[in-house]
Amino acid sequence: MSRILIIEDEEAIADLEKDYLELSGFQVEIEDRGDTGLTRALKEEFNLIILDLMLPGMDGFEICKQIREEKNIPVIMVSAKKDDIDKIRGLGLGADDYMTKPFSPSELVARVKAHMARYERLIGSGIKENEIVEIRGIKIDKTARRVWINGEEKAFTSKEFDLLTFLAQNPNHVYTKEELFSKIWDMESIGDIATVTVHIKKIREKIEFNTAKPQYIETIWGVGYRFKV
Ligand code: CA
Repeated sequence: MSRILIIEDEEAIADLEKDYLELSGFQVEIEDRGDTGLTRALKEEFNLIILDLMLPGMDGFEICKQIREEKNIPVIMVSAKKDDIDKIRGLGLGADDYMTKPFSPSELVARVKAHMARYERLIGSGIKENEIVEIRGIKIDKTARRVWINGEEKAFTSKEFDLLTFLAQNPNHVYTKEELFSKIWDMESIGDIATVTVHIKKIREKIEFNTAKPQYIETIWGVGYRFKV
């Protein structure tokens, strides 16, 4: 659930905002002092801050500035004076929105939702970005563990995938079968290095046009394998 911190010293206003936001499904906390509000804003995980300008302990200007130095969560600043709002805008403190009191609670809720959605898209796009390795027609999605060869998806077993990815990420470097075995298979597994040969053969059948003349994974006779660039 999304958490909102209201830093507001007028109890009636804070309670009204809290009621409306809770009805919309948000979890809401209230702090009635600027200094304690800032401490909580920095220490705890909130998804959005509603910040009054005139507060005991520390004013909204300073709070907004300090939040921005550490976090980029949305901050909506509110003030009873239209002039103050203009002043804050001019200062470029990094608040995401400004509202003049009195405002309708439903308008506040609408703005909260809009800022939260925008922020989540921003964050979400970062988290969801998959790690991709692309090399000469081979595309490896490390996050989804999927592989495409010239646009066509091919199925790989777990160890085939690990071996191919390792070689593709370290191209132009010759690895012995022993090195590959110790990197891809866990050290406790009792296998022999012939396992590596078998897996290389299977990978080649999936990625090479002609396995007799490999274009990607070269055999360096008497040494091991190398991914060509
Ligand atoms: Ca106030």
